[in-house]
Amino acid sequence: MKARSTKLDSRYFVLLNILLCFLFLNGSNSQAERNLPSTDEKSLIFNAREVDERKGSIDFGNYTRTPFQYEVSSSMSGMFGAFHLFDSNPSTLWMSEKTKLPPWILVDFKEKRLMNRVDLSFPAWSYKDIKNYEIQVNVWGTWKTIFTNNKVNKDNSHSLPGMDASMVRVLFPKSTNIHLTVSDFKIFLENSLLNGIPEELTGHSFPILNGHLPSESHALPGAPRSYRNGYHKGVDILYTRQSPSSEFIPLTQETEVLATAKGKIIRADWNYLPMNLEEFEKQKELTNTKMLTYVDRDFGGRQIWIDHGNDVITSYNHLSSIDSKIKVGATVKQGQILGRVGNSGLKGEAEGSEEGIHLHFEIWYKGEFLGKGLKASQSYQLLSIFFKTY
Ligand SMILES: [Zn+2]
Repeated sequence: MKARSTKLDSRYFVLLNILLCFLFLNGSNSQAERNLPSTDEKSLIFNAREVDERKGSIDFGNYTRTPFQYEVSSSMSGMFGAFHLFDSNPSTLWMSEKTKLPPWILVDFKEKRLMNRVDLSFPAWSYKDIKNYEIQVNVWGTWKTIFTNNKVNKDNSHSLPGMDASMVRVLFPKSTNIHLTVSDFKIFLENSLLNGIPEELTGHSFPILNGHLPSESHALPGAPRSYRNGYHKGVDILYTRQSPSSEFIPLTQETEVLATAKGKIIRADWNYLPMNLEEFEKQKELTNTKMLTYVDRDFGGRQIWIDHGNDVITSYNHLSSIDSKIKVGATVKQGQILGRVGNSGLKGEAEGSEEGIHLHFEIWYKGEFLGKGLKASQSYQLLSIFFKTY
């Protein structure tokens, strides 16, 4: 009886998520309209959410061990798209549509790949529906089963010594006409995860309470810019939103900025000096025409930087004020107030107006900004994972 009610609850949760997903997708469009960029930026716009839910590639450059492509036989929705199999989060799921053909998952490394372990995980409420599955490799165009699991558990780990294959497929031959649900599909070479995301790039909370992560390419790391060596190095957060169906509310100088994880303060601009309009224009001219060396008047304005360990540093820009506890060397907790949002370093501040108020937030990993060399869709995926807390 207890197991039955858990199963029902989970299914209600799933339906609720589908509903929220549709609302969220619709909401994203209206936000894009409000925040229209200038004409020359329009050609760069695409919405990172417009991706095929059944297949894709995971290539976060230096941020993943191995680039790979994936495909699944079918997918219920974006909320249950194939990507969730590889996001290092067992609470997000891939769910197939009901079909007459056996569902499958495929990972293609596109080149020789040594591996010797495959892990598959299912949600607690669904694994009992699965009779068995087969792990297959592709031999000159034909799928060959190398292992069959007839006793499916919630978490399954299969040691498969000496696997040397570029493609791996999991086939569920007896799972037709059900919504097959899988939470994780991991491939290892000994202890190295070949198809996931480093743990230190997960589990941060959002720097703004109920803040909205933009999916438009111009607001994401790696977007082209006409200044500062040509790239936007962070993500621009402009709105809060109580729920996926509610209104976008612009940030103000009162909005609190929060530490995304515990760490140590390594920069806090207590002696920040605003630019006047003349200085701002001169600085802009210099960054457009001269080689960049020492940046004494940064367009990032009043900043705080936090070292989180494991080579992860975050930076919070354009602040209007800094909280009194935030000094270099101080330790902060996840969610601790750092200061308030503003437009410091931007033209709005130089003019004395409220124009351009937003939080520019950067993540630096192993000495490089997170998102360097990535397409906006890749940056968006990586950030969505970075900001998930469980
Ligand atoms: Zn920015």
